[in-house]
Order: sequence, then structure tokens, then C-alpha cells
Amino acid sequence: MPKAQETILEIDLKSLKYNVAFIKSKLKNDTKFLAVVKAFAYGSDTVEIAKYLEHLGVDYFAVAYADEGIALRKAGIRTPILVLHPLPFNFKTLIEHCLEPSLYSSRVLKAFVAVAKDLKQKNYPVHIKFNTGLNRLGFAESETETVLNILDKNDAIKVKSLFSHLAASEVLEEKMFTLNQIETFKSIAKKVTKGLGYQPLLHQSNTSGILNYPEAHFDMVRSGIGLYGFGNDPKFDSYLKPIATLKTIISQIHTLKVGDTLGYNRAFKATEPIKTATLPIGHADGISRQFGNGKGFVFINGKKAAILGNVCMDMIMVDTTNIDCEEGDEVIVFGPEHTANQLSGSINSISYEIITAVSQRVKRVFLR
Ligand SMILES: *Cc1c(COP(=O)(O)O)cnc(C)c1O
Repeated sequence: MPKAQETILEIDLKSLKYNVAFIKSKLKNDTKFLAVVKAFAYGSDTVEIAKYLEHLGVDYFAVAYADEGIALRKAGIRTPILVLHPLPFNFKTLIEHCLEPSLYSSRVLKAFVAVAKDLKQKNYPVHIKFNTGLNRLGFAESETETVLNILDKNDAIKVKSLFSHLAASEVLEEKMFTLNQIETFKSIAKKVTKGLGYQPLLHQSNTSGILNYPEAHFDMVRSGIGLYGFGNDPKFDSYLKPIATLKTIISQIHTLKVGDTLGYNRAFKATEPIKTATLPIGHADGISRQFGNGKGFVFINGKKAAILGNVCMDMIMVDTTNIDCEEGDEVIVFGPEHTANQLSGSINSISYEIITAVSQRVKRVFLR
């Protein structure tokens, strides 16, 4: 790869392939694999990533919202797509684009049935979500009869899967809670399956569920963050490869004397002579303002350079006093070696937030 000439997000599809293989190595042969590609495939790129994952043969995709699924269909993706958090407003377009909704409450289930009937659907595939402890979306266990009653009365929809979501699959101190969620899900699945008279797919695990709870793999697993190279645990991080590298360059170097200030509101004051580099990347590109004033850092020629002063919309300034570098040199914000996870720690964030923040202004470049 030639050195960066501007700010880019370099995405290594070989690493994506490697991560899929690693996660699949944790599954039984017949466990289906759902790839979560919401939020531009966790800030990387929706279409290229989905196309590549489709080529690798994943069984399912999931997105959060209808529009994300529509973008995939428009790009020619034919694999089934589960929409995790659809809103009734989008039900018609969802059906028009062959997207499969997660139905998580009586209100939403009834609304979907009405639209499906309106559009003369028969056995339209839907996924019923149950709340087993996250308390975010989903029917309660006590509502299984209600669900069955609504389902019983029509053939417009057919239940393709029953699913739930773990609240603390990466927190090993919460093992008892998680095992309880798994048992609750089993009990719900048993009741609903009996009532339906046919067997839908069952799924409950996200990446950390896959890695920590084989007993929660059921018929399918839903992996997001693992695909992109993070395992929410140093042990698993060491097996996975971050697929994205955020790179920029040095636009200009300045020398500050004692008493000079740097950036907006003069937030940084030089107490000794220093050298700074100005980089063409700012909060509009995904570098949170929280990283300003010494908290965040980048890497230049292998050395760590702290972000000084306030993060601007389009730029940051970093301390290069002790770094041998010149204008035009490449800068690494995060990547496989200096990970988004390490960077996230400096502002009490997590890898998920740092990688999904890279804005659409940043050009995506693919390594195949
Ligand atoms: C985002 C999401 C996932 C993926 O979680 P990871 O921790 O990224 O693997 C799985 N299931 C649901 C319901 C989600 O919202």
C-alpha cells in the first residue's frame, strides 16, 4: 500500500475474512452465521463489506434500521436481511425491499400484520424478539400467549426466527445473570414453538456471547464487532484483526516559543519550546472533541504524538517535539497495531464508538 496522501480509512478485507473464519471456528458446523452490518458496517463501509461477506457465504445480514437494509438491496445484496429496530412508519418500504423485521411488541406486531395483509403477503418472514433481561426491545415471557394469539389469526406472516439479546455477555462477573437469560430464552422458545406448531430458528448471541457462551449459540449467531476485529476482551482481541486503519498526513509543522498558544480559545500554552504538526482530520471526521487537550494521540513514524489544544472541525494539532518527522509524513490514528480500543480508553469510550464515528467525509480505500 502506498503511503497516505490524505485522510483515508483503509479497510483490509483479508482481515475481515480472517475474523469470519476465527468466529466460525467457535461454532458447530451447522450453526448459521448472521453478520451485523448496521451503522455502515461499524463505520467501515456498508456495501463493500456486505458484498464481501456475501461472497464469503454468510447466511444472514442484520441492520438496525430500514434505510440501511434498503441501501444493501439497492447495491444488489440478495442474502436475507434482518432489520433489528424497524419502526411502523417504514413497514411498507420494508416489505417492498424484502427486508425482514424484528417484531418486538404487540403494537409493532399488529401494525406489521396489518401492512402485510394490505400488501396481500402470505407467509412473509418475520423475527419475534423477546426481552430476557436487557430491557431494551422485546416481548416479555409473560406475553407469549398474546404473541401466539396474534400469529394464529393470520397467514400474512410466518415466524422465521425467535430471538433475544444478551445484556452482559462480555462481563464474566455477570455469568449467573447471563445463564439465566439463556434459560429464560429456552423456556420462551419452547412455549412459542409448541404454540406455532413449527420450528423457527433460535438465536441469542452477539460476538461476546459467541466467544463466552457456547450454550447460547442455538441455530444462529449474530456477530458484529468481532467481524471488525474486536473481542471485548484482551484474550480474544489477540486472535482478531482490526480491519480498519484510519490514516492521515502532516499538513504543516510549527515551532512554538514559550508563551505561544495553540488552536481555538488558546487552550494550549507552550511552557517550553515545542514543535507541532497540523493534521487534516477533525471532529467532523470522527475525532471527538473529548480527545483534545492531551487526552487523545496519534502515531507518527512509530511514535506517540498527543493531541494538543482543542480539536477543530477539520484539523487537530499534535505534539511532535520529540518525533523525527516532516510535512507530508503519514500519521496513524488507529489500526491493527495502535487499536481503536486503546485510543477509546483515554476518553472512557469503547472500540464500538470510535470506529463507528469515522464520518462519511473520510474516503474508504480497500485492500483485497
Ligand atoms: C448490534 C447487535 C448485535 C451485534 O453485537 P456485537 O457485540 O457487535 O457482536 C447483535 N444483536 C443485536 C440485537 C444487536 O443490536
